[in-house]
Amino acid sequence: RVTKHEELNITTPKPSLPPGMVIGPDGKPCKICTAFRNWRPPTSGTASSSKKSTAGMMAAFASGTGFRSPESKPENAVLPPHCPPDVEALGRATWSFLHATAAYYPARPTTHQRANMLNLIHALPVLYPCTHCAADFDDKIKEHPPDVSSRERLSKWFCERHNEVNEKLGKEMFDCAKVDERWKDGPPD
Ligand code: FAD
Repeated sequence: RVTKHEELNITTPKPSLPPGMVIGPDGKPCKICTAFRNWRPPTSGTASSSKKSTAGMMAAFASGTGFRSPESKPENAVLPPHCPPDVEALGRATWSFLHATAAYYPARPTTHQRANMLNLIHALPVLYPCTHCAADFDDKIKEHPPDVSSRERLSKWFCERHNEVNEKLGKEMFDCAKVDERWKDGPPD
């Protein structure tokens, strides 16, 4: 079977590239696939380029040439609020949408609701702009077909898929018994 990675000709980071840099299907650095903190100002060596300004980083971001060695990592490379999303901001927003949508999905969905939820899930590997995220998600959907039969099962399904990404990124596993608390009810008083 041809994986989505092979289909899209996605290149995984080569050892010679700076950590975190991701090449997109077009062979160029993929901005939205890469965490903002892994982008660097251009390497001209001039005084002005060594200033770690937001403008400089965004210019590098926009030109697609802004990666540098890990030694030059800026200490405050937090994505400014007015900048386009990076892989992390996009991920947080998307997970919020998906988990919240699952939390408010009906306990007994109609055929129409189930079909639309399946459409939403299957659209992600096609449309999600972080291409390697989308390709991995496509593989996971094939391994674990979505369960859209009820609110509870769908919430669990999303939680498990999110945990697979957490595991891949070395993050803590989330306790799926707490999805309603996190995404619907809030913490107990
Ligand atoms: P997030 O992981 O975004 O989580 C947001 C909040 O959700 C957390 O604060 C927590 O309260 C809650 N939460 C955490 N885990 C769960 C869970 N299992 N169930 C319910 N709630 C939970 N990034 C990559 O670098 N590589 C990838 O391949 C990649 N694939 C992705 C695929 C998809 C479909 C999506 C939507 C995102 C993907 N991301 C990927 C982004 C990544 O998952 C994170 O969103 C991003 O790294 C920011 O992480 P975070 O620690 O801020 O919180």
